[in-house]
Amino acid sequence: MTTNLAPEQVLSTLNRDGTRRWITPKPAPGRFMRRRQIVGYALIALFVLLPRIRIGGRPAFMIDLVDRELDFFGTVFRPSDGFVLALVGLTIAIAVFLVTALWGRVWCGWGCPQTVYLEHVFRPIERWLEGYRGQHTSRVRKVVKWTVFSALAFALSNVFLAYFVGTDRLETWVFRSPLEHPVGFAIVLGTSALMLADFGWFREQMCIVACPYGRLQSVLLDRQSLIVGYDEARGEPRGKKKKLPVLSTVGDCVDCSACVAVCPTGIDIRNGLQMECVGCAQCIDACDAVMDKLDRKRGLIRYTSQDELAGKPRALLRLRTIVYPAVLVLCAGMLAFVVARRTGTEVWVERVNGPSFVELPDGSISAQARIKLENGTDAPKKYFIVLVDTPDASLRAQPSYELAPHKSLEVPLFVDVPRTSFVAGKRRAYLKIHDTEGFSRIITVTLLGPDGGTK
Ligand code: SF4
Ligand code: SF4
Repeated sequence: MTTNLAPEQVLSTLNRDGTRRWITPKPAPGRFMRRRQIVGYALIALFVLLPRIRIGGRPAFMIDLVDRELDFFGTVFRPSDGFVLALVGLTIAIAVFLVTALWGRVWCGWGCPQTVYLEHVFRPIERWLEGYRGQHTSRVRKVVKWTVFSALAFALSNVFLAYFVGTDRLETWVFRSPLEHPVGFAIVLGTSALMLADFGWFREQMCIVACPYGRLQSVLLDRQSLIVGYDEARGEPRGKKKKLPVLSTVGDCVDCSACVAVCPTGIDIRNGLQMECVGCAQCIDACDAVMDKLDRKRGLIRYTSQDELAGKPRALLRLRTIVYPAVLVLCAGMLAFVVARRTGTEVWVERVNGPSFVELPDGSISAQARIKLENGTDAPKKYFIVLVDTPDASLRAQPSYELAPHKSLEVPLFVDVPRTSFVAGKRRAYLKIHDTEGFSRIITVTLLGPDGGTK
C-alpha cells in the first residue's frame, strides 16, 4: 500500500498524511495565565450581564432584527442611520488596525471569545475530566464531558440570543413550549450545535484556517509591533549543557520543549514569528518557569518586537502609528458630530407609485411626490409639510401627520405647478418638514411632468 505523505508538515494541526493532529496543550500556570484568566472571566461576566443592563429603559446593547434597531449604550440606530453605521464600522476597523500595529495579536490571545471560552472554560473542564493529555478517557468520562459541553453551549446560545430578542422576551420563551417560538428555538439549537462543534472539536483550527483577522496579520503587523518572540541570540545554540561540546557557546535554551507542550496552536515559537501564534503568552509562562528553575533571567521568550529581537530600539512613532490615529480621530470626530446632530426624525424622498403626474382641467400639472417620515424618538410627534421657495406651486396634502414613537410613514403628496415650468420633463420643488418642538428640514423633490417647451 502506498502512503502519500506531504514532504513537510504544512499546518500545525495536520499530520503529514493529512489527518488531524490533535493538540492537547499542557497548562502553563504563571503571571500571564493569571492575568488572562482575570480578563477572560471578566469578559464572560460582561457577555452574560450586558443584555440585562439598561440605559434610559432600553438595553445597553441589542441588535433587534425584528424592529431593525441597534441599541448602543443609549443611542439607537435604525436603517436610516446607514451613514452613521458606516462610520461606526470604519472607526472600528481603523481602531483594529491601530491596536494590531501597536500590540499585535493581543485581541486573539486575551479577548477573542474563541480563546476566552476555549482556554478558560472548555479546556479546563476537559483537563479536569480527562487529564491534560487525555490520560483518563473512559466512556463515562467522555459522556460526562460532552453532556457538560452541550449544557454550556446551550446556556451560552441562550445568552447570545438575548442580544437579538432581549432578556424579557427570552425569559418568556425559556418558560414556554418551543412550539410557541419555533424560530428562536431553532436559532438556539443551531447556535448550540455550532458552539459545541467549535469548542469541542474544531478548536484551534478556527484561529489557524478560518479566522480572517488571523490571516490578515502579515499585513497588519510591522517589525515594531508587539509579538511573543524567542530571543534567538540569547537562546542558541540550544541544548543541555553536558551534551554540548564547548561550554562557552551554550545558549540559555535547554531544549526542554516546555514552550511547545503548552502552545494551544501546536507551534514551536523558536522557529520565529508564525501566523499560527495567537499571542497567548503561554510559552512565556512555561519558559519563565524553566528559567526560574535554572536560576537564569526570565524573558528568553517574551513580549517584544521583531526589531527589538534584531537588536534595534523600539520606535513608537512610525508611519502606521501616525496615520492610523489621525484617521481614527477624524472618523471618531465625524461620528460624534453626526450622532450629536441627530434629531430623532428622518425624512427621505421615495420613488412614486403609479403615474408621476396628471393634467388638471385648467392645463396645469399635478405632479406626484412621495416622502417617508420616521419618528425615531420615544414620544409621539406631529409633523407639518409646507412648500418653501417655490412660489409658482401649491401643495395638496394633509395639514399634519401624527406619528407614534419609532414608527415611520410614507406620505404621498401632489404639487400643482404650471405646465411650462417643466424643462425636459423635470422641475424642482422644496418642501419643509417641521414639528412644534424645533425640528425643521428642507428637502428637494424632483417632479416629473411633460416637457413644457414642447407642448
Ligand atoms: S521553554 Fe524555554 S528553555 Fe525550554 S525549549 Fe522553550 S525556549 Fe527553550
Ligand atoms: S507560540 Fe506562544 S504565544 Fe504563540 S500561540 Fe503558542 S503559546 Fe501562545
